[in-house]
Amino acid sequence: MLTDASPRKANREGFLESDRIRTLDLPQDGRLLTISQSIESAMKAGTTVDVRRNCAEFLLAASEFYKVPDCGVRVLAARPLRVREAWATELFGDYTPQTMLIRVWMRTAVRKEITSFGTFLSTLCHEFCHHLDFQKFGFPDSWHTRGFYERTAVLYHHARGTPIKQLMWVRAPSGRWRVDWSRMNRRVWHVMPKPEPDDGDSPGV
Ligand SMILES: [Zn+2]
Repeated sequence: MLTDASPRKANREGFLESDRIRTLDLPQDGRLLTISQSIESAMKAGTTVDVRRNCAEFLLAASEFYKVPDCGVRVLAARPLRVREAWATELFGDYTPQTMLIRVWMRTAVRKEITSFGTFLSTLCHEFCHHLDFQKFGFPDSWHTRGFYERTAVLYHHARGTPIKQLMWVRAPSGRWRVDWSRMNRRVWHVMPKPEPDDGDSPGV
């Protein structure tokens, strides 16, 4: 996971605010966990229609909780050949702010292997956090800041029922930050889905 570089002056204030907000309020019940388990079952059964229905239910529940308009979702069997990449790092899904539509795909581009549930759910949460950036926080853009990744992780771990842990950052060139997996992996409570050999990249897209 690598953050975006800070934008030029016009949007810098929003960028810094996004970087500062490191957590999210969470529902105090298990509704998202229950739905995410349904997504996992549907993925195991391999039925795209059921996966889509459960993803839509997940996003509706989350949108209701955060008091934002519901967003649409398409679940694609495989990554489209042409992906218009609003952000260069979106490997397993994307979000279009103008239409409030999330797309996620169940197969990876290169080896056509099924995306793991952890990666899939992480992607869904990631794209939903882009939706929140526009609809809840009112940012003019949605950047991959440290705060963005941490908000995504908070939502993901809540939805998966796994303990949250602090992401550790190290400076990267051009004023960016990247997650220091080597430091985090030394911790026994590390539970973030790490890059999986079949996925070809990290889940934090
Ligand atoms: Zn993104």
